[in-house]
Amino acid sequence: MIVEKLLLHVLIVLAPVLLYSFFFESRKIGKSPYFLGILYGISASLCMYFAYYDIGLYWDLRYVPLVLAIFYGGPVSGIITLVLLLITRTLMDTNTLVFAYISAAAACSVPFLMRNYFLNANPRKRIYISIIAGFWPAFVQLLILLAYMYVRGSETADHLDHSLLVYISIFGCMQIGGVVLAAILNEAIIERNLMKDEIRRSEKQHTLGELAASIAHEVRNPLTVVKGFLQLMEGEDERHKNYYPLILSELARAEHIISDYLNFAKPEFKKLETFSIAELVVDLSLLLNPYALKEGITLFHSIDSDAEMTTDRNQLKQALINIMKNAIEATPKGGRVSIKLFPEEDQAKIIVRDTGLGMSKEQLSNIGSLFFSTKEQGTGLGTMVSIRIIESMGGKVEYASKLNKGTKVSVTLPLNKLADEEKV
Ligand code: ADP
Ligand code: MG
Repeated sequence: MIVEKLLLHVLIVLAPVLLYSFFFESRKIGKSPYFLGILYGISASLCMYFAYYDIGLYWDLRYVPLVLAIFYGGPVSGIITLVLLLITRTLMDTNTLVFAYISAAAACSVPFLMRNYFLNANPRKRIYISIIAGFWPAFVQLLILLAYMYVRGSETADHLDHSLLVYISIFGCMQIGGVVLAAILNEAIIERNLMKDEIRRSEKQHTLGELAASIAHEVRNPLTVVKGFLQLMEGEDERHKNYYPLILSELARAEHIISDYLNFAKPEFKKLETFSIAELVVDLSLLLNPYALKEGITLFHSIDSDAEMTTDRNQLKQALINIMKNAIEATPKGGRVSIKLFPEEDQAKIIVRDTGLGMSKEQLSNIGSLFFSTKEQGTGLGTMVSIRIIESMGGKVEYASKLNKGTKVSVTLPLNKLADEEKV
């Protein structure tokens, strides 16, 4: 029976995913596209080996591992799987080889084309994409079959018509089912890994945060005393008069860094107030305009929202200043930095865009990690603090960047959500 065979194939198709998750996921080999390609290739070959043969064709789920290899392993894995699949097919049977080759090439074309789209989609969307990718080979199979019958001449047309329809629909359903099941499993594995990383990251940050906070606290007090005495001496000590402004400004810098640390360790929302975000953005723009002008950069703002938010205004301002300052610092003379505010569903969205240096993929993945800085005088605290503050407000910060093109920072803020929580 075709159904039994295809059920066996579903098992064969799921095997690489399960094997991967149990044995190879945390090993180095698990990340290799060659290894994944071979794993899926074996699975595709096994599908063919246990194929159901009728109407002059092999009915099997060989394309499911192929689709999975392309989506989850990448182009290299996809090509390896395809090659293994074609070798097996050639060794098994040299009849109708042309059809097998054409259908394999056609079947993997759409997944290859959709791969970029797939990579950028969220997990739910990815599963929908898998449905389309699973449907496509079945459709190709149908076309190939029709072509094959046309070439062969349909001598037993009545018999064929009936079983063909049944076969095609069973085959199509199984194919989609197989891809979707495997995609769901794969997505679960990916999510579990992301969660593990996140837990590890937050644990590390927590420890660092505690440490930073205790040290910063201890250092701040002597610093205040030193600053006080220096200010007293400034008026009296004529000999070193010129040094004092420098000493004091360096002290102020140290204080600033320390307060950043403390903020990072535990953003405190001291004074909750309800304010218009639009006004805040205008304020920011006015505040940073002189700095931008000094750097030879034009600052734009556009506002399309009268939303209000209840939170610590100064903290939010600090968070946005850090982001905008980074944008200005990353932009060479003559460039532009824009800040845009607009509503999105029941949230406010702020987009800070610059035409600056941008970041490489690696830098982008480091953004938000403590002490990550590419600047000579950088502290690697600004973004971290901004992200912490905004996340503590229930918001979200996302970075998108292209090297030498510029960076886009999207800040999503919940409107007055904090106020509601506060009341509960
Ligand atoms: P710092 O500004 O002291 O280096 P931040 O935490 O503010 O520390 O930023 C960390 C790093 O992130 C920067 O050194 C820079 O490499 C990168 N970065 C942040 N924002 C941008 C941006 N808009 N464009 C390019 N790089 C950026
Ligand atoms: Mg900065």
